[in-house]
Amino acid sequence: MTIPYVSVHGGHSGGYCGHAKDQLTDIVARYAEAGFEWVCLTEHMPSPSEAMMAPEEAENGFTVDSWRKNFSDYMAEARRLKSKYAGRMDILVGFETDAYSGYQDAVASLIEEYEPDMIVGSVHHVHDLYIDFDDDRYREATLLSGSIEQLYCDYFDKQLELIERFEPAVVGHFDLIRLLDEDYHVRWEVPEIMERALRNLDRIRELGLILDLNMRAMKKGASEPYISAPFMEYAIANNIAMVPGDDAHGVNDVGGGFEEGLAVLTARGGSTQWRKPEIGRHRLGL
Ligand SMILES: [Zn+2]
Ligand SMILES: [Zn+2]
Repeated sequence: MTIPYVSVHGGHSGGYCGHAKDQLTDIVARYAEAGFEWVCLTEHMPSPSEAMMAPEEAENGFTVDSWRKNFSDYMAEARRLKSKYAGRMDILVGFETDAYSGYQDAVASLIEEYEPDMIVGSVHHVHDLYIDFDDDRYREATLLSGSIEQLYCDYFDKQLELIERFEPAVVGHFDLIRLLDEDYHVRWEVPEIMERALRNLDRIRELGLILDLNMRAMKKGASEPYISAPFMEYAIANNIAMVPGDDAHGVNDVGGGFEEGLAVLTARGGSTQWRKPEIGRHRLGL
């Protein structure tokens, strides 16, 4: 039996964010050529303030207004592509959240204005500092938390807040906090961290949300996708849906890490009956 290609998280493109490559139309064409059954296009949300602007976006001359305009163009283009590929490949049009100061109002107003099919709920910041960008920011965030263990706890607490507020159909790269930490395996032995992560997984199960089985980690050379072994095992044992996301940031990322990540999942006995995100699953309104 062939396992269908799908993606719950991807389609970041150079046209609409400062750290991706290629045009959305070419990326979507690649998904179709590669035989994807369905894909979610989930561009990053625009920053609501200059202070929260990502370094690459700031360097590329993005302003709060220009990024907001970009996002509006993105939604229109993604919907055009959804119609164009209808009947051949199903496209869900959404976006990926952040969780910096002010995100709750910003995400709520984007949902209200654009009525996305779905959203990916992702945390890329702790104390308003990127935890997936560079070592300096990671260290600074660690100092603000007081310890690396507390940084992990703060990350998972922020993630729970996001889950409770928006009930995103897909929870993005569940344990991204491990990215810049070589010793992340050791963190999974810390009870305070583990309790929080499992608490979040329980909530994800109760709400019927989907975990982004994020393959981008494999493409970048990690030995396992997000989510890491202990959480993947917990998700399998508790019937929490995990569905591949390539988190593509360009044409050449499409389907990246899929086979490798799939091998990890199936070796552990995970299901490949991919669940598709429910349209409009997220909470609405301000
Ligand atoms: Zn990105
Ligand atoms: Zn992300």
